[in-house]
Amino acid sequence: MIDGKAIASALCKDLKTRVDHFKARHGYAPGLAVILVGEDPASAIYVRRKGEQCRVVGMETMEHRLPVETREETVLELIQRLNGDSAVHGILVQLPLPPHIGTRTVLAAIAPSKDVDGFHVTNAGWLAIGEPTLAPCTPWGCIRLLHTLNIPLRGERALVIGRSVIVGRPMAQLLLIEDCTVTIAHRYSENLADLCREADILVVAVGIPNLVRGDWIKPGAVVIDVGINRLQSADGTNGHRIVGDVAFDEAARVASAITPVPGGVGPMTIACLLENTLRAAEIAAN
Ligand code: NAD
Repeated sequence: MIDGKAIASALCKDLKTRVDHFKARHGYAPGLAVILVGEDPASAIYVRRKGEQCRVVGMETMEHRLPVETREETVLELIQRLNGDSAVHGILVQLPLPPHIGTRTVLAAIAPSKDVDGFHVTNAGWLAIGEPTLAPCTPWGCIRLLHTLNIPLRGERALVIGRSVIVGRPMAQLLLIEDCTVTIAHRYSENLADLCREADILVVAVGIPNLVRGDWIKPGAVVIDVGINRLQSADGTNGHRIVGDVAFDEAARVASAITPVPGGVGPMTIACLLENTLRAAEIAAN
């Protein structure tokens, strides 16, 4: 089992040392501004965790919590202000935004040099030509997991299930940079099980619990489960449990390495956000 929590914690420890060096050299800390519009409970938890982790590694964090009825213009004005603020090195807009605010418009307003989520078309373009600057945190976290475990990638057959801008597409591009032979599957792909059986590296980012079964997996494959699905607990109480997109118990019997959910990819996403913020601060300082 790939212990994402332990690997993320080691990465954060290393980041703290790098942040200390940065502060000693430049006299200020890298700063991350987080914008949350509305009161979606899951988003509020993510924002709180990001702020906590920032402080743990010694970075500054500025939270901008805006009411759900905030107009798009107001969000854009705030972003413009943060773009021009030299104490802010990273800007993160927590998604999803309320429906009256255009996600593309908002993400396009962030200065690419401060786009620590890596969603701006400029950064997506750098990634697409094989020169990632600020890569999206979740797929970058998956690559960091594979690197940390010394899993060979060159020439391996990789299948990415899911083609979202946030996870699937950038994941495929990062695997391509690692010299994998990459296939992308999505909701209209046929024979998904057969595609899986050919994959040495399988990354699943769909959002359907237990979509990938154990007998779909090539013996010895490496399985990275990005999915986060909340299932009502069996006892009918209000509690819930979190599962991924892969039937873990079945898959763990066949795979050579597999990420659990929770405790796999999730912790790496925040660690990579902090790493991107430090990177943005270093680039700005130099
Ligand atoms: P999304 O809804 O934007 O994309 C889902 C993708 O799955 C689409 O490309 C769609 O074509 C594909 N798909 C849907 N049904 C399919 C099927 N039956 N077979 C094959 N492909 C199918 O979702 P997303 O934002 O990419 O997130 C995917 C999952 O990853 C979600 O569960 C999300 O919660 C999770 N996630 C986790 C992290 C993390 O930090 N661990 C970060 C982001 C997203």
